[in-house]
Amino acid sequence: MSKTRVSLGHGIVAECGGLTFALDPDAPVRSDYTFVSHAHLDHVDKPHPKAKVLATPETVLLARARGIELEGNVRDPPEGVALLDSGHILGARALYVEDELLYTGDAAGRERAFMPRCRTKKARVLITETTFGDPRYVFPPLEETVRRVNEMIGRSFDKGRPVVLMGYPLGKSQVLSHLFSSWTPFFVHESVGQMNDIYRDRGVPLKREAMRVGRGLDGLPQGPWLMVAPMMGAKNRAAQRLRKEHRAVLAAFSGWATDGGYGRFLGADYSFAVSDHCDYPELLQLVREVSPEEVYTTHGFTKEFAQTLRGEGFDAKPLEGYQAALSDYP
Ligand SMILES: [Zn+2]
Repeated sequence: MSKTRVSLGHGIVAECGGLTFALDPDAPVRSDYTFVSHAHLDHVDKPHPKAKVLATPETVLLARARGIELEGNVRDPPEGVALLDSGHILGARALYVEDELLYTGDAAGRERAFMPRCRTKKARVLITETTFGDPRYVFPPLEETVRRVNEMIGRSFDKGRPVVLMGYPLGKSQVLSHLFSSWTPFFVHESVGQMNDIYRDRGVPLKREAMRVGRGLDGLPQGPWLMVAPMMGAKNRAAQRLRKEHRAVLAAFSGWATDGGYGRFLGADYSFAVSDHCDYPELLQLVREVSPEEVYTTHGFTKEFAQTLRGEGFDAKPLEGYQAALSDYP
């Protein structure tokens, strides 16, 4: 097999085994295959009309709910190419070209509720995300966080106060819905509910909510109750009303919450480090498992993590020009 070549052009393009793969391109690209790793909007875009798309049925459904149609372009992977569960959100996959290339997309380093950790296989070339590729990002064990959150909810309910758990509507909110829906009454914001429905249709056992809350918060009773909602900053009008009219406690869930300043920045009462990405030690573990000759880093701490890997003896390079603001990494 000829050696893999990695280049940038509306995302990453890998030439491997005589085929070109456009990896999560942010614009229609001509290539033999367009790989859509998952349905977060920084990874999925309208495909080129003639593109042969590699994506799971779950990614097709979730992308459709977000206004991007992939189905007509989806094909089976060619021989020697496999899609490995990356554990990031429902339907998320890594692209694997036998023994030669692993592109992780976004990958999770541990099990969360019904979600697995990423699968890995040995490959000569690894293209990995490095969203949290800095030593300060070490997430606590999930069980410990769940215990702290349940204590916080219990204290709030004792005072008659409702609790809003805030996370990205696709992925994080379904994990939160699974972990905390034993509290009653259990509500979800409509944007979360739409995604929960798709997860349920694909066999994920998420409890039905007692109420689906719209943007206007109409019909929301006095507390206590628990709601899973999208992330809202302190200046968000709904967040302000939830505090004033309902005395709600707002808790944010994000990998960035490892940094103590994140909750304050967001104006949340609490923040908890729960992520659908690998933390720093999990990224190192992932690279060791793949045992590559060449590594390319993308998203987040690309330069820093490539430097760390060079210190460990890997030939690692950051992929520049494929960066976005921190808030774009759900
Ligand atoms: Zn993602």
